[in-house]
Amino acid sequence: MTVQEQAPVIDANSFVASLPVTDVRSLFNQATIQYQSSNLGHGFMNFPVPEFIKDAATDIIQADNFNQYAPPRGVPRLRQALANDYSMKINRQLDPEKEIIITAGANEGLLSIMHSFCKPGDEVIIFEPYFDAYVSHIKMLNATPIYCPMRIDPETDQSEAFSSANYYIDMEELRSKISPKTKIMILNSPHNPFGKIFTREELLELGQVAIDHNLLIISDEVYDRVVFAPNELVRVNSIPQLWNRTLTIYSAGKSFGITGWRVGWVIGPADLMRYVTGAHAEMVYCANAPLQESVGIAFERAETNGFFQKQLKNYDRLRTKLMNAFDKVGLPYVIPQGGIFLLVDTSRVRIPKNLEFPEEIETRGETYKMCYFITRDIGVTAIPATEFYSKENAYLARNMLRFAFCKTDDIIDEAAERIQKLSQYL
Ligand code: PMP
Repeated sequence: MTVQEQAPVIDANSFVASLPVTDVRSLFNQATIQYQSSNLGHGFMNFPVPEFIKDAATDIIQADNFNQYAPPRGVPRLRQALANDYSMKINRQLDPEKEIIITAGANEGLLSIMHSFCKPGDEVIIFEPYFDAYVSHIKMLNATPIYCPMRIDPETDQSEAFSSANYYIDMEELRSKISPKTKIMILNSPHNPFGKIFTREELLELGQVAIDHNLLIISDEVYDRVVFAPNELVRVNSIPQLWNRTLTIYSAGKSFGITGWRVGWVIGPADLMRYVTGAHAEMVYCANAPLQESVGIAFERAETNGFFQKQLKNYDRLRTKLMNAFDKVGLPYVIPQGGIFLLVDTSRVRIPKNLEFPEEIETRGETYKMCYFITRDIGVTAIPATEFYSKENAYLARNMLRFAFCKTDDIIDEAAERIQKLSQYL
């Protein structure tokens, strides 16, 4: 046997090879620890999990019945709970055997859909800003993301806070980007990071484009439990003519504040779901069995104990606290109709000239520098919104920072106080 002296050079997938050593969330999580800032960057909840959810998981582990593989589709109890809940919501009787599967978070649902339908060279329409995993999945399959930025209603006074409803998709622009290679369109409502909720009229127009060009619609509705009054969520799969071309991804992580459990689900018509189930079974076989069962129990209990209503009220309160903090200091923001993020325009903030930044920040542009400055010198962590745009269109998010308000009152209050320090730099 010969001893190898040099490490072999093994090519990575070109997309993976192009990733920065540290992803944006880890970068700002590290800065949070280093500067002891209030972490409104990464969109995880730091709330304690309600007792009824923890009890469900404890009981399931103790019962010793769910320690082995679940069926690839997911445990029957959760699929049944979901069928009961969503059948009412979308006004269609769902078949838990054929139209619902449980995945390892919404992300794996998306991945299974992509692996089912996306071939090398296919084009996928995504609207900017976007949840960054869309692009990663598309590129790793050697398909092409086609970016279509959302525009702001020209009447909007951007020097003041304005509603996320003022963002819209220019249908002419969208149609101009469609080619014979276009296969999929990804929608997200409530939207991350704008918080926009698409109206029925908007969805009908988008749906018509999908029908005209025979596109699959992936609807990302992971924030479907966080819709602030008086807004109402119109579910793409509740529009009868769109049902048979729509696959919707959901997240127990977002619904119950348990992002680390990695449980999600996909709902769609049986003809499409059989492929998604196949891809999911081939890739991961099944999602985490005991926690799927626990989410099933949590769902049953949440139907009667008012959990979703209480959670929404809490998010609404935290949203108001954070908006008030930016009102007081005089920075405009996008008022989210749903979801857990506030997008703030920090263009008025002047970073002192002599400040120095680490190389990995310096090389990633102005918005990263602003975000780093606010983390280090003001003590509040956010995420640069340029991260949710393609290189070509990142200028649209210059100085826009995303703050997550899915945090306990102590963190939000501390952040609100620290945000006032920005007034020295305006
Ligand atoms: N879609 C959007 C818009 C998200 O914000 C997230 C999580 N940040 C996901 C999908 C993924 O959800 P999960 O954690 O259930 O994989």
